[in-house]
Amino acid sequence: MWRQAVHEFAAKEVRSKAAEMDANARLDEGLIPKMGALGLLGLNVPEAYGGAGVDALSAAIAIEEMGWACGGTALSVAAHNSLGCFPIAAFGNEEQKKRWLPGLATGETGLGSLALTEPGGGSDLLGGVRTRAVLEGDEWVINGSKAWITNVSLAPVVVTLCRTDPDPEAGSRSMSLILVPTDTPGLHIHPPEKKMGVRASPTHALTFEDVCVPRENVLQEPGRGLYQALQTLDGGRVGIGALAVGLAQAAFEEAARYARQRQAFGKPIARHQAIQFMLADAATQIEAARFLVYRAAWLKEQGLPYTKEAAMAKLFATEMAEKVCRDAIQVLGSYGYSQEYPVERIYRDARLMTIGEGTSEIQRLVIGRRVLFE
Ligand SMILES: Cc1cc2nc3c(=O)[nH]c(=O)nc-3n(C[C@H](O)[C@H](O)[C@H](O)COP(=O)(O)OP(=O)(O)OC[C@H]3O[C@@H](n4cnc5c(N)ncnc54)[C@H](O)[C@@H]3O)c2cc1C
Repeated sequence: MWRQAVHEFAAKEVRSKAAEMDANARLDEGLIPKMGALGLLGLNVPEAYGGAGVDALSAAIAIEEMGWACGGTALSVAAHNSLGCFPIAAFGNEEQKKRWLPGLATGETGLGSLALTEPGGGSDLLGGVRTRAVLEGDEWVINGSKAWITNVSLAPVVVTLCRTDPDPEAGSRSMSLILVPTDTPGLHIHPPEKKMGVRASPTHALTFEDVCVPRENVLQEPGRGLYQALQTLDGGRVGIGALAVGLAQAAFEEAARYARQRQAFGKPIARHQAIQFMLADAATQIEAARFLVYRAAWLKEQGLPYTKEAAMAKLFATEMAEKVCRDAIQVLGSYGYSQEYPVERIYRDARLMTIGEGTSEIQRLVIGRRVLFE
C-alpha cells in the first residue's frame, strides 16, 4: 500500500514535471508541502517529532519510487531524509530534535542538508576537512568552505562537519557535526552549481566567515563527527542505491515500451534477439540491485551491521543503473539521444549516483576492507 501510495503521487505530481524541472534547473518548491503531507519528508523522523517513522525498507521503497519519477527531486528527498534529518534524529538531544525535526518532517521550514565535502576533497574526509570550529566562550566560531552541498539553499539548518581539534594526534576524534542555522551571519551560500544531471536538486558551495553558533549546537559531544558522518553515509548509500533502482526501472520501462512499437526489418525491434537480450539483462540486473538494496535496508531496520551491505547495494545498483540507462538509449536509437524522450535525462541523472555519497572506488574500499581483513 505504501509503495502504491508513493507511486501514484510520484506519477501524478512529480513525473509530469521532471522534464521541466530539469530544463529550468529548479526544484518545484510547490512539491515540498505535498511530499511532507504524504510522509516523504519524515522517513527517518520518529512520529513523536512529526515524522512518518516508517521502517528502513519502506523508506528505500519511497526513494525508489521517487527516483522512478524524477532523479533530481528524488536526490533532494533522499538527501533531506538520510543526510539532513537522520543525524539530528539519531544524534541530536531532545532540544535539538524538538527545534528542527517537526518543521523538516513536514517541509514547513524547508529541506534538510548535510555539509561534509570541501573543495579540497570529498572521499578523504579525515585528510580533507579544513573547515575549523573554535570554541570561544560559549560559541563555536566557524571558518572554512564546503562544496557540492545538496538542498542548502532551501534548508533552515545545515549539519556541518568541522575540525574541532587541531591536534594531529586527535585523528578520527578531531571532528564534530555542528548545527548551523542557514540565516547565521557570515554563512554565504553561493549560486547553484550548473550540473549535468539531477538538475532539479539544488547544489551549492558554502563559505563560513566567522560564523558563530552556540556551543550546544554540536551533535552529542565534540570529537564524534567523523563517526556520525560515516554512520549517516551508511544509510544514505541505501537511499542512493534505491534511487538508482528507480532510475533504471524508469529507463527500462521506456525502452521496453519503445521496443514493442518500433519496427525494423519487418518486425518490432523487441522481436530482434539483440534487443531482447539487452532488455532481459536489464530486467535481471534491476531485480538483483533491488534485492541488494532491500537487504541492506532490512539489516539496518534490524539494528544489525550493514556497512558492507550498504556499500555493495550502492556500488551494484548505481553501476547497474548507468548500464541500463546506456542500453535504454541504444534501444531507442536516435530518439534515445533526444530530449523528446526521458531516457536522455535519466541517463544524465544516473551518472551522479556512482559519485555522490561515496564514489564506486570508495565503496570498493569499504567492501574490500570488510571481506579481506575483518
Ligand atoms: C550533485 C552532487 C550532490 C552532492 N551532495 C553533497 C551533499 O549534500 N553533501 C556533501 O557533503 N557532499 C555532497 N556531494 C559531494 C560528493 O559526495 C563528493 O563529490 C564525492 O564524495 C567525491 O568527492 P570528490 O568530488 O572530492 O572526489 P575526490 O575525493 O577528489 O576523488 C576523485 C577521484 O579519485 C578517486 N579516489 C579518491 N580516493 C581514492 C582511493 N583511496 N582509492 C581509489 N580511488 C580514490 C574517487 O573515487 C574519484 O574517482 C555532492 C556531489 C554532487 C556532484
